[in-house]
Amino acid sequence: MHIIDGKSYDLIVCGCGVAGFTAAVQGARAGLKTAVIERYGMPGGILTVGGNNDIAQFFAHHKQVIRGIGWEYVTRLAEAGYAVIPDKMADGPHWIYGVHVNIPAAAHMMDMMLTEAGAELYYGQPAAAVETEHTEEENGILVTGVVIASKEGLRRLRGKVFIDCTGDGDAAIYAGAQYECGGESEDGFLQPGTIRFYLDKLDLPEDVKNNADRILREYRNNGRMDPTDVRGRTMDTMLSARGNNIGHVSGFNGADSDSRTASEVAGRASIYRLMNALKDAGVPMDPFPPIEVIAPEVAVRESRRILCDGYMTEEKYVSGYEYPDAVCTSFYPIDLHRHGDNGIRQTFLTDGQIPTVPLSALIVKGISNMLVAGRCASGDRLANSAYRVKASCMAMGQAAAACAAVALRDGVTLRQADLEKIRTLLRQNDAIVTAADVTD
Ligand SMILES: Cc1cc2nc3c(=O)[nH]c(=O)nc-3n(C[C@H](O)[C@H](O)[C@H](O)COP(=O)(O)OP(=O)(O)OC[C@H]3O[C@@H](n4cnc5c(N)ncnc54)[C@H](O)[C@@H]3O)c2cc1C
Repeated sequence: MHIIDGKSYDLIVCGCGVAGFTAAVQGARAGLKTAVIERYGMPGGILTVGGNNDIAQFFAHHKQVIRGIGWEYVTRLAEAGYAVIPDKMADGPHWIYGVHVNIPAAAHMMDMMLTEAGAELYYGQPAAAVETEHTEEENGILVTGVVIASKEGLRRLRGKVFIDCTGDGDAAIYAGAQYECGGESEDGFLQPGTIRFYLDKLDLPEDVKNNADRILREYRNNGRMDPTDVRGRTMDTMLSARGNNIGHVSGFNGADSDSRTASEVAGRASIYRLMNALKDAGVPMDPFPPIEVIAPEVAVRESRRILCDGYMTEEKYVSGYEYPDAVCTSFYPIDLHRHGDNGIRQTFLTDGQIPTVPLSALIVKGISNMLVAGRCASGDRLANSAYRVKASCMAMGQAAAACAAVALRDGVTLRQADLEKIRTLLRQNDAIVTAADVTD
């Protein structure tokens, strides 16, 4: 098969969701010739394409516990009027600390910050394969290039260090990494995904809302809707969420293409059932139901966790353990969505804990020059249900790129990179590395 020879880079970031975005910005700002590969035409992943415009959470315990490039990003968006940053002194449930962004501006700001930093963008070009050779140095795999599917054909980009930020760990898997997916759970299923729909902002009369609630209940009971279609939502709560994070698409594996295809079909069928219910409830049609746009795919909560040298555990997460090689902080409750409509298993961190992420949980086991960051980082599934949130993914992306930068500058492998130099570089870029950096 013919593969076009493309450019060579110091750093190649695969996937430009929130983790890939900060990784590419940090890499380029540290002087690395950086490429970022994204399968869609839009950066942002679940934040933008997936339609979940909430970034949780930079604040906890009335303090700022995550900063860095992710924080710069939301601050710039807020200054431009496209993000709402909550009051860190507010009291309330964890979700009040999410930063809400406007999706088109959020994607544009990523384009701007990436290009300002000098990263080269490969949008609409999925990573389709990875080329490797054996390395004696660490008795493992050396990744030499990534093959992307471009409009011109398959194209090879060569790199010195690779960071997999695909959410599902695709690039790491192509390179031969080991992984976990699911595991011990109460019900044996992966967590459900959710397909975002965009519900018009309607000011519905009370009688129409009441009728819609009655129809939704009735249709759930008589099987015309699935209980997971809107879960327990009422018309009022759906209108205030505007279709964000409503239904569950359950029983699928987002890291299995056949299963994923089935989930897309199921997700759209779920929205179709909802639209029919709204029609039957007398919600105004103009000329269609007030849902005309949906996300292009089901957003995946859980898939592969790539095995790295280190591994984050729930126990250490909820106790706010400081790993000796901590490179960033994370914050969220343990938040495992159960199969179907069976609620969420949660553990809250209410005693001042600030969990950390060890560098070793980002360096892919058995591969000498690949890191992972974001949802596919290494840990158990309960820890993953917390560290997968966006502000934490942003912190991980930045930390992974800082490791790449120090290793390449010093001409050493990722595992030999000087931890204190990595931390210094991160702090120079406004990141919080450990709880000791949390001041206010
Ligand atoms: C329904 C839902 C609701 C959520 N709610 C919240 C919330 O309210 N607040 C919060 O903070 N977090 C929330 N989360 C969690 C959070 O959004 C994600 O875990 C986080 O965005 C993951 O970031 P990431 O960068 O690791 O991955 P992603 O955002 O998934 O980004 C991965 C990127 O890689 C690209 N990609 C994938 N494969 C390839 C490939 N082979 N080649 C090239 N590119 C590829 C994708 O297109 C994507 O852009 C939610 C998640 C879901 C699914």
